Amino acid sequence: MTDLRHAPRVGLGWDRHRLEPGRRCVLGGVEIASELGPAGHSDGDAVLHALTDALLGAAGLDDLGSLFPDHDPAWKDADSTTFLREALRRLAGLGLRPLSADLVVVCDRPRLAPARQAVRGSLAGLLGLPLDRVNLKGKTTEGGDAGRIDVQAVVLVGPSEA
Ligand code: MG
Repeated sequence: MTDLRHAPRVGLGWDRHRLEPGRRCVLGGVEIASELGPAGHSDGDAVLHALTDALLGAAGLDDLGSLFPDHDPAWKDADSTTFLREALRRLAGLGLRPLSADLVVVCDRPRLAPARQAVRGSLAGLLGLPLDRVNLKGKTTEGGDAGRIDVQAVVLVGPSEA
């Protein structure tokens, strides 16, 4: 069989949160001024949840819900950068690191555009990647559903040594 140890791996993540009045709106580790924020057991950061799941998927490491169960009081109101950092730590333990990431955020309110570069920069910092290896696209449903946020993430992961 072909030796795949040094071959890159792709990972896919997806997340959805309901948006509620009065919740903090944290996306990609950046707090955004908004009357609506994602409901959830943790801080509800759907961007980091999708990205973390993509990283875990690329490494064959199960998923976010298995590692950080949403019934565990330890993760109540948790800062989701904790989840991403733990996933990166586990990847590093396998000799893997992220090489690039691309995300799509679907949300009518709040508008992503004013915060997009800040969120992109935050993700690049968390992943330890240059900005041109991390992309973030904002889409709206043009009024189809203002009550939720959906996020898709794709990552490429490769050997730490390469
Ligand atoms: Mg989530």
